[in-house]
Amino acid sequence: MLKTTTLLRSFTLVLVSTLSFFSFSAFAQQESEDDIWDEMDCIVDEAVPSPCEETYYSDSADPEHLAGFDPIVFNIFFWGINEDDGLNPPTFTEEHVLMNIAKLNIEFNQYNIFFKLKGWDNTSYRATNRYTGAMINNIWDTALSNGWYDSESLNFYVPYSFAIGSGQALGHGSIVSGTHHWSFQAPERTTILHEIAHNFDIYHTRHNYSNPVTCERVTRDSADPNYNADTNGDCSIDTAAVPEMQVGDVNLETCQYEANEQGCDGDFYIIFESDVRNYMGSRSAGCYDQFSVGQAIRMREYIAEDPNNELDAVTTTLASLYEPYKGEYIEYASQPNTDPPLFQPGFEYYFWDCECKEQTPCNDPAPYDDTSFTYTNTQLLHILKDETNYSSITHPNHSAIAIKHPHEDFWPQPRRCFDNWQTPPIIGGTVTKFNDGIFNTNVTITEKDSLQMNNANLINDLDSGLYNIKKNKVDGSVDETNVLKENN
Ligand SMILES: [Zn+2]
Repeated sequence: MLKTTTLLRSFTLVLVSTLSFFSFSAFAQQESEDDIWDEMDCIVDEAVPSPCEETYYSDSADPEHLAGFDPIVFNIFFWGINEDDGLNPPTFTEEHVLMNIAKLNIEFNQYNIFFKLKGWDNTSYRATNRYTGAMINNIWDTALSNGWYDSESLNFYVPYSFAIGSGQALGHGSIVSGTHHWSFQAPERTTILHEIAHNFDIYHTRHNYSNPVTCERVTRDSADPNYNADTNGDCSIDTAAVPEMQVGDVNLETCQYEANEQGCDGDFYIIFESDVRNYMGSRSAGCYDQFSVGQAIRMREYIAEDPNNELDAVTTTLASLYEPYKGEYIEYASQPNTDPPLFQPGFEYYFWDCECKEQTPCNDPAPYDDTSFTYTNTQLLHILKDETNYSSITHPNHSAIAIKHPHEDFWPQPRRCFDNWQTPPIIGGTVTKFNDGIFNTNVTITEKDSLQMNNANLINDLDSGLYNIKKNKVDGSVDETNVLKENN
């Protein structure tokens, strides 16, 4: 174990010095699987100066301040990484992608941060030396030179494994991150939330904990001369000073810190359950379920400032959340839909009964901004945030979409009334006469074209007798009727 640690340490230092040549001052941010911790992370972290000084950070931890940020939507695109021969099973499936987009929205929506599934590609990225054992900056370099990225999205990569850790972000404040396939596929893992938070300039709560100059001291009393929570560590005043956790420090059943260690100024740590549960903690997988208010405000302030000028390009509209990620709307009301429009999971949706005016029919869903339709609160479909039957999240005919979210941009106004009553045109058909006047095989079949089949006098013009009439419709459906024409 000691040997491994030493090796990793020397590798890290090389890595840091190599990366310092990059203009975007990238440094790889490593994560660890809970049981295979490595010391890479904090060594790399401590190589960067204190992140607390930018003036656009208020250092606030006030929920009211947080509530003042308007909704913002980020596109995200998921990339699986394959070996060169492409013969390995993809590192994720569509189901995994949907599970992760739901995770992101379920957590971040409370901060009015939304994610739109722009797409995924689990076959194009082929590079054996990126499939296992690479760092995120290597993965990104290869992506850039091969076009395996989406310039309008946060790009999230899923190799089989990284050189180190279960997830990595391309530095604090970036549009690139990833997790290894196992974290991506595991419903209970929260690594993606942690990495995306790094993209929004959030640090580990233990940031600089072992650095005597930049460490965060234990005291929370801002009048105490030792107080430095607003300028040191992770810069969030509502996360405690915490060390890198070791096995046994945290009781993973109760999510309590049970060790008795001293912080950098000699005070014993005062670590709450909320710190153990913080997504940016260490060695506490199974407990992670929250960011602090201060962290969330920091994300929003980083997003608002966008100091690297790269977030604007990867945001999109609220309207995009009301568009399916795949599938097609039917053209005719009676048409069975084999490829229905599907919506990303992670939101609570109400599909309310709606009606469009005759002058502006909604044979296609009404545009997002057109709310001239009428609706009632009769629900044709209700989907919860944690719905995992993904094929059930569709848009029923004669309904509009309401997303249940406290912000007035979402609720209660439903959008995109789809109210299709169109019947498909008849394109032809057959008239079959039963020559014996009973249903048997002695028949005369006459093919008819669309003009003949649409003729209102089709039946009137028939001679007396027993007939079967088949009307073929453009959507492939067939209307079939039997007619007994009496003598006039
Ligand atoms: Zn991290």
